[in-house]
Amino acid sequence: MGAPYAFGVEQSRGRRHAEPAHAYRDAFQRDRDRVLHSRAFRRLENKTQVFTRRYSDHFRTRLTHTLEAAQIARTVAQQLGLNEELVEVLALVHDIGHPPFGHAGERALDACMREHGLWFDHNLHALRIVESFEHRYAAFPGLNLTFEVREGIIKHSRDWSIDEYPELREYLLDQRPPLEAQVIDLADEIAYTTADFDDGLESGLLALEEIRSRVPLFECFFRIAEHEYPGARAKLKFNEAIKRMLDRFVTDFIGETARRLRERKIDSVEAVRRSPERLASLGAEAEAERRECKQFLYERLYYHTQLMPEKQHAERVITELFTHWVNHPETLPRGYREKAGESAARVVCDYIAGMTDNYILAQYAAVIAGE
Ligand code: MG
Repeated sequence: MGAPYAFGVEQSRGRRHAEPAHAYRDAFQRDRDRVLHSRAFRRLENKTQVFTRRYSDHFRTRLTHTLEAAQIARTVAQQLGLNEELVEVLALVHDIGHPPFGHAGERALDACMREHGLWFDHNLHALRIVESFEHRYAAFPGLNLTFEVREGIIKHSRDWSIDEYPELREYLLDQRPPLEAQVIDLADEIAYTTADFDDGLESGLLALEEIRSRVPLFECFFRIAEHEYPGARAKLKFNEAIKRMLDRFVTDFIGETARRLRERKIDSVEAVRRSPERLASLGAEAEAERRECKQFLYERLYYHTQLMPEKQHAERVITELFTHWVNHPETLPRGYREKAGESAARVVCDYIAGMTDNYILAQYAAVIAGE
C-alpha cells in the first residue's frame, strides 16, 4: 500500500494515443520498459558523465550514473511509500536528453543555437526524443509515454513559466510535479556528487589530503573509517567515508521530506501539486554540506586544467560540425535533410544532441578533417 500522497497508477492522465491495458504490467511499468528498450537509453553508455574513456573504462558514464541515481531514487521512494515504478522510469529517463561530451557539449550546443536566436535545453530535448525521435512502434511515433512521465521529464530540476512556454501548457506549469518526479532531482545530485569524489580520486585529479582538508563532512567520516579500520588501505578508508556520506545524504533526504509532508499535512497528490514549493528536500544542515561538496568539486575537479584540452576539443567538434551542417544541410542524412527546410539550426541541433561521444568524433574525422 502506498502513502496517501503517492501517485497511484490509476490516477494517470494516460497516454497521448490510447492503448489497451497490458495483461500484467501497469502503465508505469510499461513506460519503464519502453525507456529501457529505447535507442536513446542505450546511447547513454557512450556519453560522457565527467570523464571520457581516455581516463579509464571504470569511470561513470551517463548510463552507470543513471543506474546509480535510479538506485538512490528507488530507496527514497520505498521509504516514503511513493510509487516506485514511476520513480524508476523517471530516474532511468532523466539524462537521455544530454548531448555528447557532458556539460561542455551542452554549453557548446547551446552557444551554437543562440547564434540563431534559439537555445538548447536537455529536458526539452528529452521530451522531443520520447515524443517523436524514437521510432519503435507501428501505431504511433515516439514511446507514447504516460502524461506523468512526460511531465516529470520537463520538470526535472526546473520550473517553467506558462507565458514563456505556452507550448508546454498541458503540463500543469502552475503546479508542482508529483513527489515521484521531485525525488529525482536530489537523487541525481546525491548520486553524482558522491561518485565524482570517487572518480576524481581515481583519475588522480583530486588528492585524498586535499579532499580531507577542504570538505569537513568527508573528513568527519574519514576519521571514523580510520578509527574503525586503522590498518586498511587509504582507498578503502576513502570508500568507507564516501559510503557514509552517501548514506548521510539519503537518510537526511528521506527524513526531511517525511517531516515536511507531516508538518504540512500533505495527504494527497492534489496537496503535493498545490504546495507552494517542492517538498522533496534535504534539511538545512545537510543541504549546506551538499553545497560545500559541490563547490569543492566545481573549484577543484570540473574545471581542472587537465580536463581543459578535452573540453576545448569537445567545443570545437560540436561548433564546427554544427556550422558545417547548418551551411550545408544537403549533406545531412535523408530524414534530417527533409526537415532542415523548416529550421536548419533546430534540425542540426537535434541530430548532434542524439549522438554519442564516439559517433560525433567519427563524424568530425569524416566531415571536418576531410574538408
Ligand atoms: Mg543526472
